[in-house]
Amino acid sequence: MTLDNSRVRKSTVTLSDGRPLMYFGTVPERPADYPDRRQLTAVRVQSQARWDRLLGEWVVIAGHRQDRTFQPADSQCPLCPSSADSHTEIPAPEYEVAVFENRFPTLKAASAGNGGQRNAAEGDPSLLDADSARPAAGSLREDSRLGLLTSRPAGGRCEVVCFSQHHAASFADLSPAQVETVMAAWVDRSAELAAQPGVEQVYCFENRGAEIGATLSHPHGQIYAYPYITPRTDRMLASCAGYRRECGRNLFDDLLAAERADRARIVLESSHWTAFVPYAAHWPYEVHLYPHRRVPRLTALTGAARAEFCELYLDLLRRFDRLFDGPAPYISAWHQAPVHRGGDDFALHLELFTIQRAPGKLKYLAGSEAGMGAFANDLAPEAAAARLRQLG
Ligand SMILES: [Zn+2]
Repeated sequence: MTLDNSRVRKSTVTLSDGRPLMYFGTVPERPADYPDRRQLTAVRVQSQARWDRLLGEWVVIAGHRQDRTFQPADSQCPLCPSSADSHTEIPAPEYEVAVFENRFPTLKAASAGNGGQRNAAEGDPSLLDADSARPAAGSLREDSRLGLLTSRPAGGRCEVVCFSQHHAASFADLSPAQVETVMAAWVDRSAELAAQPGVEQVYCFENRGAEIGATLSHPHGQIYAYPYITPRTDRMLASCAGYRRECGRNLFDDLLAAERADRARIVLESSHWTAFVPYAAHWPYEVHLYPHRRVPRLTALTGAARAEFCELYLDLLRRFDRLFDGPAPYISAWHQAPVHRGGDDFALHLELFTIQRAPGKLKYLAGSEAGMGAFANDLAPEAAAARLRQLG
């Protein structure tokens, strides 16, 4: 099939343990010619979401993930294309962009092979299974009525997005056309996962670099489809609602306008997008990238905005790569409106940041940040923006 709003072709095949794999682009030409030859058995997923009554947020407990692949040798990379003597997660001998469900997911929708979670809760009378008590997840106010020791199956889905078949590449090495194919995959997955029962929020992100927790060096990102609204998104929506009550306007619109008027922290601007270091940046180098026309989700971006994003994002990533003596480890995070809330107020945007502040020096989440959630940033956002502007 050809995807809406782009010329990118999508083909879906099924891996030997039943997980779907999707190729985006024209390579391989005939995906069905390459079946998965590994004869995998399905992994039993035992994730549980537990309600932290003090902080008002869900925590996923996923014990089965201890056995997952951790920084394998290059020759054992599960994200490289398959060859005659190596059978990987991707059965074809070449591909452009591939997306598949994670074999060791943090989140997975309940199914016949995944029914053990609720038993764990039912077996302990001190744990209330909230699944039937609150069919519509998401609202913090609603969640605050839950019991003290409450759990529910951690439904949802985790997918892996392979940005390139080339093991040693990075996102910044892609061509704009290849980024368009990645973007088509993000848009397609955001729409399809949002339509699945129980999914409340879809999050596309990349962890780049072992320093930041990437367990595989092959260029790839992930997509989480959460069965609840994440804490940061919930806080942003609450700020938006408060601002609208007080000022009658949209907070995202006014913040973007304030940054564009102030100019001091602007890194890049184009006709559809602005990239800036936020006034109260949490991280040494942190850039937020907003479309000028507010849309709630990736699916609502116009073709012109999508095309321009590809060029701008590559420019930004290449600046990050020139910050230090080696490529900067980074997290790149797409913020989208939840599936059932915030469509009128939320502004789709991307947050890109590195934990590195100087060559060989990482900012760790230490006592104040990890213990109290209270951030201190040693680099002035205006200085970070000036540095990133110079690196063009
Ligand atoms: Zn690889």
